[in-house]
Amino acid sequence: MRKMIRRDVDVLVIGSGAAGLLTAYYLINRNIRVSVVTKGYGATAMSSGCFDILGMLDNKFLESFREGFDRLPDSHPYRVISMNKLTTLLNLFQSALREANSILDLYMGEVTRNINVITLFGTIKPTALIQKSMKGSILLPDGKYLFLGFNNVFDYNPKLQARMLLSFARIMGFKNIRAFGERINLGINIPSIHFLPVLLRRKKIHDAFMNTLDNLMNKYSPDSILIPPVFDKIEYLKDIQDDFPLYEVPSASPYKAGLRLNRLLWRLVESSGVPIYHAEDLRAIVARREISKITIRKNEKETEIHANIFVLATGDLVGGGLKIVTKKSSLEKELIDSVFGLKIANLSKKTFRDDIFSNHNLSKFGFKINENLQPISESNEPMIDNLYVTGAIIGGYDINEEKSGLGIPLVTAFRLSNLLKKAEV
Ligand SMILES: Cc1cc2nc3c(=O)[nH]c(=O)nc-3n(C[C@H](O)[C@H](O)[C@H](O)COP(=O)(O)OP(=O)(O)OC[C@H]3O[C@@H](n4cnc5c(N)ncnc54)[C@H](O)[C@@H]3O)c2cc1C
Repeated sequence: MRKMIRRDVDVLVIGSGAAGLLTAYYLINRNIRVSVVTKGYGATAMSSGCFDILGMLDNKFLESFREGFDRLPDSHPYRVISMNKLTTLLNLFQSALREANSILDLYMGEVTRNINVITLFGTIKPTALIQKSMKGSILLPDGKYLFLGFNNVFDYNPKLQARMLLSFARIMGFKNIRAFGERINLGINIPSIHFLPVLLRRKKIHDAFMNTLDNLMNKYSPDSILIPPVFDKIEYLKDIQDDFPLYEVPSASPYKAGLRLNRLLWRLVESSGVPIYHAEDLRAIVARREISKITIRKNEKETEIHANIFVLATGDLVGGGLKIVTKKSSLEKELIDSVFGLKIANLSKKTFRDDIFSNHNLSKFGFKINENLQPISESNEPMIDNLYVTGAIIGGYDINEEKSGLGIPLVTAFRLSNLLKKAEV
């Protein structure tokens, strides 16, 4: 017989990306009993780990999110949660970061000023907060950069990265940037850059690596030597940085900086006493626009979690929070959320574009929200009375066009925790 366990909390958060974990963290800080239930990692773990807040509009780089705020549509989550007030949004961001100061240990930068960083592709992107291990990827007007590769490792191409950076910098008007690429030989075949941290634990390889860095410094005297984020823990990299300017460049999965952020948040939440349940199979009980409980099944164990408030932080299509289904009646496709099956949009052929470089409506899809962060219907009614949303499951913005990815989870999680505190759940 299946064993049934019952748990009671004030708030149950669904999803363990940046949005879910930050929501749980802020709530427990307000003495609200909270638990998290999740399928696993999502887009946060795949990201570069940099907090983009609002870096671009109309293909132009912004110096700060403040510069673009007035040009955002009224339906943009930043405008909705701040009730169209830039100062409110600014306060929310600053307070959110102040309260999550344990993550700040890993980061440098400011919410009010974007910095331009060099990516693994040799492109340049605006972002607000970078991990300190990426400091050397900041674009300096007359910077000298060396992309480092390894003989017979084809995960990426350092010479190509250097060429890309030079072209990109020229287009942006930085004529004094210098960039080089070099593959080095450590006397051992490295099958992939991902093996580097393990191999460097061997003294012989570590010494060869340090000697090679020394030679490269003499040959190029670069401001930074750039590698992808491959270290799980950055302490080792910090030791090397005592002697050489070896830094990580922002890059998405399969590299480690996004995972590092996600794990850090996970540890922060668990060490604050919030239980995190892993759910292979999750069912919600909803009646008369009210959720009463979520049932999760794992092996032979079934857990019922009862809560007053439920927060959906399940991300977008990448994170698994949204899914596309085909209607049985008409064979048309629609976009729904993956937990409650709430409909978000009908998807016509127009939604999908063949040209990958044009705007894609699909990336803007997600729940329409009111200022209380409740998902609302077309007639602006809350879809479910005790359901709230944070993070990328919210629609109305496009991370690719705007460079606004992790800013949304950060500020929506903080805003919701303040609202729920006032509501005294
Ligand atoms: C490749 C890539 C690179 C990116 N790079 C950047 C960047 O450099 N800077 C930046 O700011 N942003 C970046 N982004 C965007 C950013 O990562 C996301 O917008 C952000 O992480 C979303 O956080 P989230 O917590 O809302 O969702 P996610 O991190 O996706 O978390 C969703 C969570 O919900 C869980 N979940 C989903 N469905 C269910 C379900 N049915 N039941 C239970 N749990 C469920 C998932 O397992 C996961 O834990 C990038 C995104 C991608 C995909």
